[in-house]
Amino acid sequence: MGEELEVTCPWCGEALPLWIDRETAGSFVQDCDVCCRPWQVHVHWEPDDDGGARCEAWVERA
Ligand SMILES: [Zn+2]
Repeated sequence: MGEELEVTCPWCGEALPLWIDRETAGSFVQDCDVCCRPWQVHVHWEPDDDGGARCEAWVERA
């Protein structure tokens, strides 16, 4: 289980899909597929009304 989000690279400005696993929380480092520069990805799960959770993620330059 997980969720695919679209994030914008803080280096090259490219919008890219990012797969977030349900077990992933907090932050991790991943390289941009386009420019290969490092992202610091922050993940937050927001509980929804159905008992599930909605993923929010944002990236900054690592
Ligand atoms: Zn990039």
